[in-house]
Amino acid sequence: MNVLLVFAHPEPRSLNGALRDIAVAELKDQGHEVRVSDLYAQGWKSEIDRADFPQLPDDARLNVAAASGEAFKAGALTDDVKAEQQKLLWADAVILQFPLWWFTMPAILKGWVDRVYSYGFAYGVGEHSDKRWGDRYGEGVFAGKRAMLIVTTGGWEEHYSERGINGPIDDLLFPINHGVLFYPGFDVLPSFVIHRVSRLDEAGFAAVATRLRERMQTLFTTKPIPYRRQNHGDYAIPTMQLRPGLGDPGARGFALHIDAA
Ligand code: FAD
Repeated sequence: MNVLLVFAHPEPRSLNGALRDIAVAELKDQGHEVRVSDLYAQGWKSEIDRADFPQLPDDARLNVAAASGEAFKAGALTDDVKAEQQKLLWADAVILQFPLWWFTMPAILKGWVDRVYSYGFAYGVGEHSDKRWGDRYGEGVFAGKRAMLIVTTGGWEEHYSERGINGPIDDLLFPINHGVLFYPGFDVLPSFVIHRVSRLDEAGFAAVATRLRERMQTLFTTKPIPYRRQNHGDYAIPTMQLRPGLGDPGARGFALHIDAA
């Protein structure tokens, strides 16, 4: 199978760099073909702006979604964006790897999403009617592919637990897992998260490496998070609200969108 790992750390000799190498080596040992988008090494441009749309006339007002859609349709996106889109189409599984910075992904990775997920490619696709609301949340260009996060944090695991002050880690990662990955169709696997990494000693590192190898071995068999699909009756169209009676009576917020049944 083909695996794309998108790596967002500025230092190859970091913990993240070491974990990336372990993940890539294990995937190759399993017989997979692996490509890495190393965003800092590539000098990835993180902001989406006018330069992304060379065909846009100088005096035209920039509407990012519209310009993105037109450039995608015309094959006029910049070469760096087209190359990442091709890698995504090639991949059977995509891994986003990053240190948690200010409770989310580093800006360079967010910029990769902003620029690579063009209108007409990753969003703005599919029929909108009283039966369907586009190809999204379980449908879309990446349907049939898997994705997961590898994340390191400075904070304690307890600080990211159900009652922890930072908020549960699955909630913090929900906009990435559900928004960035499930929205354009990926089956999303539980994240691989390592907490309090500044305290990691050699024994701790060895244990983490073992767990990471196991996750790479089961990349194509691990059960995805059972997010509710949009066009399969759970949501009212067009309000997209979960229908009454669905979800645990006590559940609210993000938890409602996971089908625990
Ligand atoms: P490194 O600093 O490279 O390594 C961490 C430790 O891992 C080392 O000290 C060492 O003990 C061990 N190690 C590294 N490499 C190896 C190896 N090859 N073998 C054995 N042991 C090794 N944290 C939060 O929890 N929440 C936040 O919101 C948050 N925001 C941040 C914002 C910014 C801008 C920054 C800079 C940091 C933030 N942090 C936050 C902390 C951040 O998540 C951690 O610094 C990051 O996850 C560490 O990953 P690293 O790859 O840089 O680790």
